[in-house]
Amino acid sequence: MDITRLEPRAKDVGGVPIARALPNKRIKTIGAWCFLDHAGPSTFNEGDEGMQVGRHPHTNLQTFTWMIEGEILHKDSLGNEQIITANKVNLMTAGTGLTRGISHTEQSVFSSKSGANEDDRRINMVQLWIALPTDKEIEPAFDHYPELPSWQEGSTEFVLTTGRYTSVSGETYKAPTKQYSKLIGLDVNFVEDNEVTLTTESGSEYGMLVVKGEIVFGGKLYKQNEMVYFDNSDVEKTNSITIKADKGTRIMFIGGEPLNNKVLLWWNFVADSKAEIEQSIIDWNNHHPRFGDVDSDLHRLPAPPLPEGFKE
Ligand code: MN
Repeated sequence: MDITRLEPRAKDVGGVPIARALPNKRIKTIGAWCFLDHAGPSTFNEGDEGMQVGRHPHTNLQTFTWMIEGEILHKDSLGNEQIITANKVNLMTAGTGLTRGISHTEQSVFSSKSGANEDDRRINMVQLWIALPTDKEIEPAFDHYPELPSWQEGSTEFVLTTGRYTSVSGETYKAPTKQYSKLIGLDVNFVEDNEVTLTTESGSEYGMLVVKGEIVFGGKLYKQNEMVYFDNSDVEKTNSITIKADKGTRIMFIGGEPLNNKVLLWWNFVADSKAEIEQSIIDWNNHHPRFGDVDSDLHRLPAPPLPEGFKE
């Protein structure tokens, strides 16, 4: 099986060190998943404010937040305010095209709690973006999913964060999470040392992020924050992927069918053309009403200009 190892890049988002696995020099998208940031697992210092991401816009994408440890407050320009806690998903839909958009803030809340203890200062969070199909008229929205299908296979725990998944034993699960293209997101938690087989479907491509610990796949070791990418031809040969990991390891298995349109990405914008990204930069920096406003004291982040030679 031909597979690709994706090395993460170290970034800073709102004062928090992040491992960015997508987009990657080698792979830009996995299905419609076009961005993957992993924060933690770590503990903020006492007196630290944690994550404070100021007001910023999005276009032609959904932000998909999977929380493993910690608490983050989301506020958006539709007036939604939602604290996300462990084992839940926040999904914000920016909407498609040049007339739609959304803006939001994301912040740690432990510093506002009196006597925040060490547990409150933990963070382990995966935030992904899902590119929207630009030939569809999609309205901005925000959804919170506190209840997701979860089950055990042997000693290993699974949570289906989005999509439909059939386990090796033949059981099919379906997440309530809103989708505009075929996608899957599966959290796998090794309670004991184990070998686990994940199923795959024809027509989809897949990736696996090591969220915590390390895994062995195809005789090779993958460390925390590394990602394994499997293209369609790889998974169609076997329709399954078997990995081995020690107790305490956690992975995020994602996949989906590629979109028919181009997925260009700059700053917080996704679009299918350079002209649309340029217009979105102008609109945000000129306070265009398509992005609304967030009821927040956090600063407003300006959109940087497109670099010379940005490739369409
Ligand atoms: Mn955002």
